[in-house]
Amino acid sequence: MNKFEQLGLSESLLKAILDLGFENPTEVQEKAIPLLLEKDTDMVALAQTGTGKTAAFGFPVIQKIDASNRNTQALILSPTRELCLQITNEIKNYSKYEKGINVVAVYGGASITDQARDIKRGAQIIVATPGRMQDMINRGLVNISQINYCILDEADEMLNMGFYEDIVNILSTTPDEKNTWLFSATMPAEVARIGKQFMTDPIEITVGAKNSGSATVSHEFYLVNARDRYEALKRLADANPDIFSVVFCRTKRDTQAVAEKLVEDGYSAAALHGDLSQAQRDGVMKSFRGRQIQMLVATDVAARGIDVDSITHVVNYQLPDEIETYNHRSGRTGRAGKLGTSIVIVTKSELRKISSIERIIKQKFEEKTIPSGIEICEIQLLHLANKIKDTEVDHEIDNYLPAINSVLEGLSKEELIKKMVSVEFNRFINYYKKTRDISNQASGSERRDRDDRDGAPRENNNGGATRYFVNIGSRDNFDWMSLKDYLKETLDLGRDDVFKVDVKEGFSFFNTDPEHTDKVMEVLNNVQLEGRRINVEISKNDGGGRRDHNGRSSGGSFGGGRSAAPRREGSFAPRREGSGGGFRSDRNSAPREGGFGPRREGGFSSDRPRTEGSSDRAPRRSESFGDSPRPRRPRRD
Ligand code: AMP
Repeated sequence: MNKFEQLGLSESLLKAILDLGFENPTEVQEKAIPLLLEKDTDMVALAQTGTGKTAAFGFPVIQKIDASNRNTQALILSPTRELCLQITNEIKNYSKYEKGINVVAVYGGASITDQARDIKRGAQIIVATPGRMQDMINRGLVNISQINYCILDEADEMLNMGFYEDIVNILSTTPDEKNTWLFSATMPAEVARIGKQFMTDPIEITVGAKNSGSATVSHEFYLVNARDRYEALKRLADANPDIFSVVFCRTKRDTQAVAEKLVEDGYSAAALHGDLSQAQRDGVMKSFRGRQIQMLVATDVAARGIDVDSITHVVNYQLPDEIETYNHRSGRTGRAGKLGTSIVIVTKSELRKISSIERIIKQKFEEKTIPSGIEICEIQLLHLANKIKDTEVDHEIDNYLPAINSVLEGLSKEELIKKMVSVEFNRFINYYKKTRDISNQASGSERRDRDDRDGAPRENNNGGATRYFVNIGSRDNFDWMSLKDYLKETLDLGRDDVFKVDVKEGFSFFNTDPEHTDKVMEVLNNVQLEGRRINVEISKNDGGGRRDHNGRSSGGSFGGGRSAAPRREGSFAPRREGSGGGFRSDRNSAPREGGFGPRREGGFSSDRPRTEGSSDRAPRRSESFGDSPRPRRPRRD
């Protein structure tokens, strides 16, 4: 008997669960489902998004309604159209083996008469946004006077968005004896008030600690000067070649401006905010889900309800005005059991906000330094090497081999490798050669007395630590903590002797003080990990610039002024208003040679899956090694 069977679910639901590939119930499912199936009760469940809460209320509601009765029996209220559609879709998937169950989504921006017609045909379950639901009630297009179940999903979000009155009005037209199930990530006073007003002795369940961030999300901040905010964002993206992220800005204007700049600089980015039409937003979300967009730059309101499971990073380009909102932002990553990172780019004047957020999320931030140009180059170079290694060869190429061979005749293997890598890499290294170090440190009175999670003894860095590159990484199941433990154990070093551990997919970086360098080189280069030789080398920088006695950065290995990043082609961004509202596939006058600059389409650096449709132009020379095509122009609705 699997764990879902023990929850008391029907055969048809178990069959659907099998199809969905869910192996075990999540915590909220395990806690909520048996209670909701057994009893007719009200419930308050404190659970973040991504915890599996849709199924936690979806399975019981499907099992409890009477499919032979076509009246509306359950109403699910959700804050946004996106979430409303996702819930509808999930409920349809869950109920696919139930006969006669109809689910209808009711939301703004679509035809109200079509929705009314679908309801009239008989919808036992309605999933609705509060505004449109209120509208339909006012026009007499829906009857919820006989419902048995009312579910408020993401109640705190709905109230944040100003739906208090709508919710109260909607609930007032439902029968008193129904059951209400309220799901919320946090419990602000307004949500508690709704609970008090409309629920009777609700059972309370909590997943994880109340108000705490998800355990699967780690939190980092990078201290920079305000003028370096955008440069910091680009470097963070360059240091994480596989980034798939939501970048939060405070205003629609900033959101649009940052997205446009990223696109200009060749990143696969797009903006999501309230000034876009619904069709534009749908197009952006479709491209994001399809991984054609790696950096979705969004406002808080527009990003509500984004339900994409594999987001690797949430980037707080600017912190929100209300620090409670941070929780919602960071909850977009670390979903469905995956690990995620929430990054804050912060200036000195905002530092105290970090402490306030730590109190709310009950988790510590790790202070990190923006990678220097040389470190980014190392990361990208290794990423490129791995990409070449992992690229599957299309044997169509065999036909051209004789001609290629005759061109490359006479080159040794080593020369050939160097040249191949240089084709992609020269422009990248040239760009970063010219950039200065932008990392900043909390120092003097501004430096907070913080628990430094990677154990970096900041003061010891004055003489310059040794930075190492090692050929093991997350592929070998290490994260920074486990790698640090492994290195300390293997090298027989003390608690703070290994620091600035930075784990990438196929390789990692770490620091020690110079006195340990000989030992590290000697011991690690003679160790095997599961039959594979470990290779450690001294990296050319110390992991973010050296610091003077105030802990300030004194510049990285590359000097020189700033220069604009070389542009890449083929990115998408919604146009500004008045320009037709579509996307542009941005070809610009950037240097065409060598596709490996910052950054990205068609180069080595993206793992996007191939999408349907054919390219509107032939691949450039620089795309020849990569396995990922440029993003296609998304279809307009
Ligand atoms: P939710 O919190 O409802 O938005 O769910 C987050 C994601 O987890 C959705 O994509 C669900 O399909 C998925 N999910 C829900 N329950 C499970 C489960 N028991 N096992 C694996 N994935 C699940």
